[in-house]
Amino acid sequence: MSPSPNLTTRFVSTGSLPGSDEIRSLVETAYENFREEAGGKLADYIPALAQAEPSAFGICVANTHGDAFMVGDAAQLFSIQSVSKPFVFALICDALGPAEAAARLGVDATGLPFNSIMAMELRADGTSNPLVNAGAIAATSLVPGTGAEDRWHLVRQGLSRFAGRELECDERVYESEAATNQRNVGLAHLLRGHDRLYCDPDEAVDVYTRQCSLLVSSRDLAFMGATLAGGGVQPLTGEQVVSAATCQRVLAVMATAGLYERSGTWLYDVGLPGKSGVSGGMLTIAPGKGAVATFSPPLDAAGNSVRGQLVMRFLSERLGLNLFISAPAAHQ
Ligand code: GLU
Repeated sequence: MSPSPNLTTRFVSTGSLPGSDEIRSLVETAYENFREEAGGKLADYIPALAQAEPSAFGICVANTHGDAFMVGDAAQLFSIQSVSKPFVFALICDALGPAEAAARLGVDATGLPFNSIMAMELRADGTSNPLVNAGAIAATSLVPGTGAEDRWHLVRQGLSRFAGRELECDERVYESEAATNQRNVGLAHLLRGHDRLYCDPDEAVDVYTRQCSLLVSSRDLAFMGATLAGGGVQPLTGEQVVSAATCQRVLAVMATAGLYERSGTWLYDVGLPGKSGVSGGMLTIAPGKGAVATFSPPLDAAGNSVRGQLVMRFLSERLGLNLFISAPAAHQ
């Protein structure tokens, strides 16, 4: 879907979100427009995710000042899955600095599925990027600590600071994925062979699997995203969670690699950094303004929420968020 042909300045990215009434009305319109959408399939390679309710649907827009605009199941909790990846990367990027983080993890899109082994093998240095499984497991292995418990504590605490509240792990999802994640275990051991994993492989996968099982709502995700949109300041707590320079790098990687092998199509249509996860969560960031989070479990073939993408194509234009839309310049 491309932006409307009769583009008006109304849709051009401005310095702030539109007024509250307009946001509220657009969020409700997006919900009504797409609630009957029946496309997509539930992820079933993690058995617990196959039990999700396909009709669950929530949208939340949060701005950098702490206001939230919610509709539908925006308070429903689900496992964060891959939407955890940009936040763990943010913690690592903040700790190591952007140059060292890029050198150890890579920051280029792979163009291949999220759990691709080939993507890692294709590059001489064994890096990918922190938003696909190989790079994300490598990022988790860089979390400081002397064992899985230490690292897990720091990851949970770090992501909770982004959310502005204490996040809990869904033990059922964790156990379901831990029993079936041989592919991620394989990736971790191969990364170790490339010298691209920075702790014990089984420990790295265990912490990564817990991280993916953290429970969030669309509202939580929207505020986590609004923290990245606001130079690292959490809108509700006022805490500087990571530096503004870190946010800049995280958003850059999200723009190029956030939607798996569909990242180019996403940027072409939506024009914003985003990240999706296999439980149906999707997060889109509007730098300087805020974030939009959606939850709807049915996925397309690449693992991206079908309704989530429709909502964002609609809202990025209507809310004036697309970073690439400009008005024709006045000719002197
Ligand atoms: N925990 C999932 C996995 O590693 C996350 C995948 C995703 O959300 O893309 O397979």
